Amino acid sequence: NESKQLQYQINRFGKGERLVVVRDVTRVHRLEQVRKDFVANVSHELRTPLTVLRGYIETLSMSPDLNPVMTRAFEQMQQQSDRMNLLINDLLMLSNLETDDNERNQQTVQLKPMLDMIAADAMALSDDRQHNLIVKCKSDIALIGSEKELHSAFSNLAFNAVKYSSPDSDIKLSISIDESALTFSVKDQGDGIDPIHIPRLTERFYRVDNGSRNSDAGGTGLGLAIVKHILLRHDAHLSIESKPGKGSTFSCIFPRDRYQILENQTVEAVD
Ligand code: ADP
Repeated sequence: NESKQLQYQINRFGKGERLVVVRDVTRVHRLEQVRKDFVANVSHELRTPLTVLRGYIETLSMSPDLNPVMTRAFEQMQQQSDRMNLLINDLLMLSNLETDDNERNQQTVQLKPMLDMIAADAMALSDDRQHNLIVKCKSDIALIGSEKELHSAFSNLAFNAVKYSSPDSDIKLSISIDESALTFSVKDQGDGIDPIHIPRLTERFYRVDNGSRNSDAGGTGLGLAIVKHILLRHDAHLSIESKPGKGSTFSCIFPRDRYQILENQTVEAVD
């Protein structure tokens, strides 16, 4: 009684002949749904016990009677529970992106204030590493979509630029438009990425092993998978250009009907 999900493929030959291939993908879809539900439930269920553990770790680590071994152990526990927290949050975010309905994604999102805020946060993440964050965006440009999701995608890319580039280097966040597309790009002068890794970067948990920098950076390997999902929900796509040793440019390309030039805006000079 269950409705079937069928996939059709039409192959055309000469003289008007057609070969129609019909595939029953009901089982594949059902398994995919089971996977999504499982990840969503597990991440949700792990949240409460982790919050309790983090609370105890914090309280006990402030005890006055700790010897150096115990202090070191508490630091490790704190670091690992922070990492687990990041992982659970990223997994939950991915699950929500896969299951939430897309219809509510219709806000008019002004880009200049958002990019200024992301640049300030990236500076804070950069801390003593002193990256030079440059924002190039006119104040009258807006995207149509979810403010929260766009902010998350753009800040993931900006934070990666900080994580994977050297101190004192430039990081440029810029918006450019032409008649058919709007492009948001993040350009860094960092380590760059070997071309063999580029097609796999948006897979869940895929991380390039390039020595100490990656393990220091403390990511989850889910950031670019999140970016890809958010862009899909905005009819956009990610393009990655990189030269090992020279730097990378991550660009989000949105179609014409996803951006607007706002009227009645004081158009400031580009920074
Ligand atoms: P992570 O949490 O590890 O940063 P991401 O999905 O955001 O996960 O990125 C996947 C991998 O892509 C990273 O582990 C890193 O190796 C590589 N990467 C991402 N952004 C950059 C960048 N700007 N420069 C160099 N490598 C990068």
